[in-house]
Amino acid sequence: MLFRILGKDEFRRLVELLLAEHEVVGPKRIDTAGDGRPIHQFLPVDSFADLDLGYESTDISAKTYFLPFRETLSAWRFRDRDWTQEISYRRHPRVIVGLHACDINALLKLDKVLARDCFPSPYYLARRKNTVIIGIDHPPCSGGFCHSLGTDTVTRGFDLFLTDLGDRYFAAIDSDRGFSLLQLVATSEATDQDSADYLAARKRTVAAFGPDLEMKEIPNLMDIEFDSPVWQRWGEKCLSCSSCAMVCPTCYCYGVQEEVAMDFSSGVKVKQLYSCCIFDFATVAGGHNFRPRRETRLKYRYYHQHRGFMEIFDEPKCVGCGRCSRVCLAGINPPDIIRDLLAGEERP
Ligand code: SF4
Ligand code: SF4
Repeated sequence: MLFRILGKDEFRRLVELLLAEHEVVGPKRIDTAGDGRPIHQFLPVDSFADLDLGYESTDISAKTYFLPFRETLSAWRFRDRDWTQEISYRRHPRVIVGLHACDINALLKLDKVLARDCFPSPYYLARRKNTVIIGIDHPPCSGGFCHSLGTDTVTRGFDLFLTDLGDRYFAAIDSDRGFSLLQLVATSEATDQDSADYLAARKRTVAAFGPDLEMKEIPNLMDIEFDSPVWQRWGEKCLSCSSCAMVCPTCYCYGVQEEVAMDFSSGVKVKQLYSCCIFDFATVAGGHNFRPRRETRLKYRYYHQHRGFMEIFDEPKCVGCGRCSRVCLAGINPPDIIRDLLAGEERP
């Protein structure tokens, strides 16, 4: 990993240079919640001033720029006793500025499933390869538990990652692209003092996290507590709305359907994100539903996050961003469920 020191004015100039040629997406303040909390969203920006790099979190993750809620996979048309098919991938370069470490870690997890598995998704790959990521370090956000999962730091998966040292940024470079970007502006070598300031800034950030959740036992506990009343208690609250999965930066379940014109002359194959919390998620041909109960669906969502993914990739799928907790109208949240599982409950 290479490190450079980037002045704040130079960073601004870099973003302005990028804006001149590319779509730039970043955290933009869009509203204020009832409790006074600012609401941010990753949106295309027109100027550096639109970016609010001091944001705490966004309600919706940046997953949508890699795995949109709905996308057309292919379109076909019959004409003159022949047919044609169109398949297109996004090739336009995009820059995302201001991703936090947990969200970059989330992309690394999506990469494992969508970019490196036996059947990589060319749609995902096209977006991932054509997106420049400039991440930024930040203090803990409320409801987040990334430190418990080790996702509060990131060492790859980005082009540049900035740590605020007050009057300048400590910039980690993780790609040729990131290196080339820094050639566009003035930077300097990181001195011993810069490195010491960076380590001190990291120490302050880590110290600001509350006590960690004990995550090591969770994968085993998931099996041991398979019939725990914890699932029923939390499941009874679940509205099966799927908001948690939609905002989650690592949930990728989807369905594919064909939409055909009434005269059968054309059609499109559409992919749409889906969620394991929705009533018919496990319904199969013939109508049998393997998970008709809310608590079972909720349980399996947590199983995928903390047991199933672990089994395949040796790490949990959850990055502890806390978005599912913030969006859930029923107050269902991973830290409380994990604490309840760790505490254990008498079976009836
Ligand atoms: S856990 Fe909360 S957000 Fe998720 S489906 Fe249930 S009610 Fe909706
Ligand atoms: S499960 Fe919740 S806390 Fe974990 S990554 Fe998804 S949204 Fe974030």
